[in-house]
Amino acid sequence: MSDIIQLLPDNIANQIAAGEVIQRPASAVKELLENAVDAAATEIKLFITDAGKALIQVIDNGKGMSETDARMAFERHATSKIKNIEDLFHIKTMGFRGEALASIAAVAQVELKTKKEENTTGTYIEIENSTVVKQEPCAFNNGTSISMKNLFFNVPARRNFLKSNSVEMRHIVDEFIRVAMAFPTIFFSLTSNGQEVFHLEAGNLKQRIVQVLGSSYNSKLVPVKEHTDYLDVYGFIGKPDTAKKTRGDQYFFVNNRFIKSAYLNHAVNTAYDSLLPKDSFPSYVLFIDLDPEQIDINVHPTKQEIKFEDEKITYAFVQSAVKHALAQFSIAPSLDFTLNADIQSLSAVSNPFTDEKKDATTSSSLFKTFTQKNQAHFIERSSNSELKHWKDFFTPAKEESGVRNWELGNNEKQEIRNEEFITKQQIPNSLYEEREIKSEKPFVQLHNTYIISTTPKGFMLIHQQLAHERILYERYSKAAHQQQTVTQKSLFPINLELGVADAVLLNELLDDVNALGYHIETFGNNSFVIQGTPADVLQGNEKHSVELLLEQFKHFTGEVKFSKREKLVRCLTRQNAIKAGQQLSQKEMQTLIEDLFRCNTPNTTVTGNPTFVEFKEDYLDRMFTKW
Ligand code: ADP
Ligand code: MG
Repeated sequence: MSDIIQLLPDNIANQIAAGEVIQRPASAVKELLENAVDAAATEIKLFITDAGKALIQVIDNGKGMSETDARMAFERHATSKIKNIEDLFHIKTMGFRGEALASIAAVAQVELKTKKEENTTGTYIEIENSTVVKQEPCAFNNGTSISMKNLFFNVPARRNFLKSNSVEMRHIVDEFIRVAMAFPTIFFSLTSNGQEVFHLEAGNLKQRIVQVLGSSYNSKLVPVKEHTDYLDVYGFIGKPDTAKKTRGDQYFFVNNRFIKSAYLNHAVNTAYDSLLPKDSFPSYVLFIDLDPEQIDINVHPTKQEIKFEDEKITYAFVQSAVKHALAQFSIAPSLDFTLNADIQSLSAVSNPFTDEKKDATTSSSLFKTFTQKNQAHFIERSSNSELKHWKDFFTPAKEESGVRNWELGNNEKQEIRNEEFITKQQIPNSLYEEREIKSEKPFVQLHNTYIISTTPKGFMLIHQQLAHERILYERYSKAAHQQQTVTQKSLFPINLELGVADAVLLNELLDDVNALGYHIETFGNNSFVIQGTPADVLQGNEKHSVELLLEQFKHFTGEVKFSKREKLVRCLTRQNAIKAGQQLSQKEMQTLIEDLFRCNTPNTTVTGNPTFVEFKEDYLDRMFTKW
C-alpha cells in the first residue's frame, strides 16, 4: 500500500534517455552517420525530408547486421563496440555507448534494412515506441539502411520545441559536414527534399575541404603536419587572407571526432599572431590524433567535448604546429622555425602520462622549446596571449557590451565611411532645434567615444556608437517594413561564392536581405551576384558585408522570437554603426547628433541602453552648492 516506487517501462526509460542523445534532427543525423562510418562503409548517403522532421534516412554499404544483431541493436546499452570498462580507454570507433539506436527507436518510427555480405537475404525490421512491430526477411544490398520518420511523433512537447526548417536544416548540414570532413576517403551525399545538396566523391583531405568549404580555398590552404610520439597534428590552415571576421570555418577533430574547444582554438589564433588583422579569425581544419588513453571522450553524451589528459601540452603542440606551417610556407617570412629534432623523440611525454613523467617533460629540452624565449616554439605569454584570458576571447558579442568592439580596428575603412556618412545627410532638423543645441559651439569628443554637446541650460553626453545604432536601426527598420530602401549600386556586379551551408542560409534570407537594401541574385550552385548594398556599406566591402551578415545572423544573441527580418535589421545595424574608439570630426559629430534627434526614440538603443545623458543646469548647480 505504502510502496510507491515502480520500474519505468522500457519505452519511457528510452524516451528519457533519448532526451540526452537526440535533441533535434541533427543529433540523429550525427548518430546514424557515425554508425555507418563505424560499419566501415565506403559510401554513405543521407536523405532528409522537411529538415529531418518527416524523414532522416542513412544508407550505407558497410558490414551490415545479422538478423539477431538487427533486433539487438535497438536495445538500450546494446553495442558491439565495447565489452568492458577497460575498452572505454581504447575507443577507436565513433560510437560506444549503445544508446543511439535505442533512443531513436523511442522517439521516431524506424525502419531498418540490413544485410551482411555472407548472407543471401537481409532483414527488415519496423519499430515504433521501442517495440518491434514487424520483422521479416528481405532482399537488400550489402549494408544498412535506417529510416526514421516523424521524429518526436510521440513526444509532442519536444516536437514543438523544434525550430524552423531552415534552422534545423542548418544544424543537419553542420553535422553532415563535420562527419564528411573527418572521413574524406568515404563518399558522402546529402539529399534534401529530393535535391542533392552535397555530392562528395571520395578523395584526400584537401579535396574534401575544397568540396565542402568552397573552391575559393583551393590555392589558400597550407598543410600542417607534425608527428610526435605523444600526438600527431595534421590538416590544413587557411592563409591569412582566408581569415574571417567571425569564427566560420574552424574545425578541430580529435581522433576523427569533431570537437568544440575554445582552448585549442585560441592556440591556433595566437599562432597567427600579427599575421591577422585584429578581430579576425583564421580558417582551419585540424586533426589531432593521440592515444585514446590520453583523452576522455565520455564527458558529454553527444561527445562534442572531450577532456585531454594534458591540455597544456596539447595546446603547445597545436600552436607550434601551426606556427611551423606558417613559417615553412613563407607566410611568416621573418620567423625562421625549424622544428626541433627533439619533437621527434618524445619519450618524455609518452604514455602513461604520470606526474613523474610530467616533471621529466618539464625539464626536457622539448618542453623548453615551448617555454624559453629565443626558442623556435616559444609560446609568448604576453598580456594578450595569457592563457587565463582565453575565455574572454570567446565570449560572444553581447547586445549590451560586445557591440562596442564588434568591428573595431580598420581605421582606413572607417574614415572613408565617415566621409560618405556626412555627404549623405544634410536635412534640417526640427527636434534638434527644439532642444536648442547650438552647433556653432564646437563639440568635444571624449576618449573617441563620447560627444559633449552644450545645451542652453547644461550639456549632454552622447555615446557615439549607441547613438548611431539608434539612427541606423530606425533607418533599416523603415527600409525593411516600408520598402523604402536606398541601395547603392555596385560599380561592377560582385561574385560571391559561399560554402553550401551559407548558401542554403542566404537563399532562405534572400528576400529579407534584399528588402534591407541589398540587391543580391542567385547565380546557381552556391554562387551569388551582389548588384548593390545598403547605402552605409562601404564600396569594396560588399562581399565581406554579406558574409558578416550571415555570420551575425547565425550567432544572433537576441531573443528567439524576433522575425528573420528583425534579426537582419539588428545585425546590419550592429555591423554598420560607427564604433566607440573612432575619432570623429566636428561635422560628423554634428550630423550624428542631428540624426539622433530626428529619430522616433532618440534616447535609447533598441536593446534599451541610453544613447545620451543630459546634465541640466539645476542638477549641475546642486552638485556644487552646499546647503
Ligand atoms: P553504438 O554505436 O554506441 O554501439 P548504437 O545504438 O548507435 O550504439 O548502435 C548499436 C549497434 O548497432 C552498434 O554497436 C552496431 O553493432 C550496430 N549498428 C548500428 N548501425 C549500424 C550500421 N549502419 N551498420 C552495421 N551495424 C550497425
Ligand atoms: Mg552509434
